Amino acid sequence: MIRSQRTLGRTVATAGVGLHSGELARLWLHPAPAGHGIRIHRRGSKEIIPARVDSAQELSYATRLGLGEASVSTVEHLLSALAGLGVDNVRIELDGPEIPIKDGSALPFVRLIERAGVVEQAAPVSAIRILEPIEVREDGKWIRVEPGSEFVVDYRIAFDNPAIGYQRFVGAVDPETYRDAVAPARTFGFLKEVDYLRSRGLARGGTLSNCIVVDGPKVLSGELRFNDEFVRHKVLDLIGDLALLEYPLIGRVTAYKAGHALHAALSRAILDQPEKWVIVGPEGAATVVPFPLETEVAATGAMSM
Ligand SMILES: [Zn+2]
Repeated sequence: MIRSQRTLGRTVATAGVGLHSGELARLWLHPAPAGHGIRIHRRGSKEIIPARVDSAQELSYATRLGLGEASVSTVEHLLSALAGLGVDNVRIELDGPEIPIKDGSALPFVRLIERAGVVEQAAPVSAIRILEPIEVREDGKWIRVEPGSEFVVDYRIAFDNPAIGYQRFVGAVDPETYRDAVAPARTFGFLKEVDYLRSRGLARGGTLSNCIVVDGPKVLSGELRFNDEFVRHKVLDLIGDLALLEYPLIGRVTAYKAGHALHAALSRAILDQPEKWVIVGPEGAATVVPFPLETEVAATGAMSM
């Protein structure tokens, strides 16, 4: 598991409208030094927003990150592409309020990252190794992480809708699996919810070309990319949301009917129960890193190994 940290080979750019704001924004991905992590700079603002749990401001329909006056919405698909491909250090620059939705999947971001090239850095990456199960439950929905030798996702959804129904995705998600089996899966929504979302100022940039729209048994936006595209998109979202932990996760995540809010709740539960995991660095040794570990957490890590 332990590998070098990675960044991009060069700066790349794209542009597009935001799903919820409908506003056009330009987006740049810049290489960044080892230890930098993923940070977002909204042009014109003094703040650089670190992509971490503390920065999350809104988690219902999309993930918004903020710091001080600055905020950036709908970061999850871009963060998912970076985490899914194992890119650790990038400075994201944006000149609008929301990351472009592109085609509703993470594939355009995967292609952008591949255009930049991924380069290895001198420093090794650290990871969170789960030692004991951590679980969050809410209204019959749940999400849990357990010890395992690699990052494995077991995601189940069950919709009372014939176009979706019950779907399950199980697998170890390495960069290749991510690119081929997860990244192309598009976001989805229900036609009956469109008016409600628009009344709340959401989904203004939503069209049939950037969202799978489901109306009863019918899928209105053409052919699906996978028969189980819906659950694969949930996995995509999960990877983007867990990226806010700042370290790759070594463990098995099982989710049932979860979504952004539960994904975020799991991240918080992990940070709140530091006795149940340890940060591992090169050679599997416990290492002390500045964030998010507090001093007592570092002590736990040393004992656990
Ligand atoms: Zn999504």
